[in-house]
Amino acid sequence: MAEIVRKTDPGSVYEIDMNSDVTKYFENLAKKNRELFDKYNIKAIDIMGSIGSGKTSLIENLVPRLKDKYKISVFAGDITTTIDADRIESKGGKVLEISTGGECHLDALMIAKALARIDLNNTDLLLIENVGNLICPASFPLGSHKRVVVISVTEGPYMVIKHPKMFIDADVVVINKIDLAEAMGVDPDKIAEDAVNMQPRVKVVKTNLKTGEGVDEVIKAIGL
Ligand code: MG
Ligand code: ZN
Repeated sequence: MAEIVRKTDPGSVYEIDMNSDVTKYFENLAKKNRELFDKYNIKAIDIMGSIGSGKTSLIENLVPRLKDKYKISVFAGDITTTIDADRIESKGGKVLEISTGGECHLDALMIAKALARIDLNNTDLLLIENVGNLICPASFPLGSHKRVVVISVTEGPYMVIKHPKMFIDADVVVINKIDLAEAMGVDPDKIAEDAVNMQPRVKVVKTNLKTGEGVDEVIKAIGL
């Protein structure tokens, strides 16, 4: 990732559309990742959302429920810490930490490098926790089969309409912390409606990931 991004030397003047080259580069890599997933019969799920929305909590809930059915590997993307990886490991998940070294999203090259370090024959479900951020992960496909976006009612009522790109590409939207909706003055049904308006084929599930409420519905919505 770094090699190609650094070509746009900060402060230098350039007229070429670097953006399209970079996009194509990562799209090709994402395609290769997908080919690898399919070759090894791995279902890959990209889990995105803001910091604190509940991405790690979702994975902590998914791992114990799915570990008898699938051989699960988890990639935990984080800018610097291993907090999330440690939490997921405590639930019995095999976790590979992807430290992005300052980047605010995962990209397909980071995933390709991580894939080279796990036993693909011994994995049939890969859960990828993206970096906590609702903006640029939307522009960096990883090659995953499904994209899950986790939002929390504590983020306010406008998360969907303020992040159209993220929600247009979503397969499943998880609205978390519904136990706090009333206190926050946020209507989860309105958020769900916004998500469906943005992407009519999206599946929306309301959860309280502290108690595990809604997790079985998330599993169904993802198709696991
Ligand atoms: Mg997390
Ligand atoms: Zn980013």
